[in-house]
Amino acid sequence: MSIAQNIIEIVKEHVPKEANEKVKRIRLKIGELSGVVPDSLLFCFDILKNGSALGNVSVEIEHVPITARCRSCDKTSQLEYGVFFCTSCHSSDIELLTGKELNIVDIELND
Ligand SMILES: [Zn+2]
Repeated sequence: MSIAQNIIEIVKEHVPKEANEKVKRIRLKIGELSGVVPDSLLFCFDILKNGSALGNVSVEIEHVPITARCRSCDKTSQLEYGVFFCTSCHSSDIELLTGKELNIVDIELND
């Protein structure tokens, strides 16, 4: 719930108050490791936006897979959730590249 609240706060910070009603769409990037469950985020967002100036906003979520670079063989692999070793050489000495994202990509306004 607090994440949905934060997103609304961020939108309000970035968009002038008189333009809040013009916000059409918010695009988010959510990594598989961010700990955010997109469905429950959308559910909370729907509850919070009702009755606010952001009542008509739709939220679009871009899922970011988990990728990591191996320090042993230097290959980059896409990992399943919970699997933290290189898919080429099975080394666990890996560096996480993506998957922890929780970003607002952009905020789209009606003209
Ligand atoms: Zn490797």
